[in-house]
Amino acid sequence: MCSKFIHTSLLKKKNNIFHYFGSRSNALSPEEIQELELSQVNRTLELFDHYVPDKIGPDNLVYMEQIHGNKIKNVEKADFLKETDGLITKRKDLYLIVRTADCAPIFLYNEPSGTVAALHCGWRGTIKNIVEKTVQKMEKEYNINPSEVVVSIGPSLRKCCFEIGAEIIGEFGSNYIEKRKDKYYLKFIDLIISKLVSQGINRKHIEVVGQCTRCNQDRFYSYRATKGQTGRMLNIIGMTDN
Ligand SMILES: [Zn+2]
Repeated sequence: MCSKFIHTSLLKKKNNIFHYFGSRSNALSPEEIQELELSQVNRTLELFDHYVPDKIGPDNLVYMEQIHGNKIKNVEKADFLKETDGLITKRKDLYLIVRTADCAPIFLYNEPSGTVAALHCGWRGTIKNIVEKTVQKMEKEYNINPSEVVVSIGPSLRKCCFEIGAEIIGEFGSNYIEKRKDKYYLKFIDLIISKLVSQGINRKHIEVVGQCTRCNQDRFYSYRATKGQTGRMLNIIGMTDN
């Protein structure tokens, strides 16, 4: 397996799941991310190259605009969804794409019901409870039991680099803030895990790719490191139809 893609062992164990967290090697360049419409599809497929099975193509990819909000959509077909940061589907052979550079790509899978979800989650999304809302929506609309959900959290900014302004630390609770010298840092992964666990997900069913995007710029794009002029990694999950 090529090291330019990262997968987690929890999801890799599932025979019918196709997933990767991307790296710089299969990322959209700063210029390419200016175009957010479905025209990205062909470029995405080029970037994934032969690591994506032939059957993944323009007819079965779903993209989101990603605005750091908390809107989560149920999807049934290839699409580009405006003002959306989360996707859920029961459709097999439909693949969900999340673009990231410091925010966390989060994949959820409920095997009994055959449901997958993909989230784009940064600090704004956590304040707007996108994690909790996703699990609740899966529960209500897809009849899943949270204790049977497995979660993979991809490469993101971590507490080593996740500096936040003093004016927003009250949004997170002191357990999730680390003060170093005069600066405040968000324990971002701990925060996401606590939100998942608060919804009934078993901590043992959560796997984290322990790499900070900013500390590993040779491997990942980092929005913070480049003050916004950066590319985006492509992350993908879907259920195969066999
Ligand atoms: Zn770091």
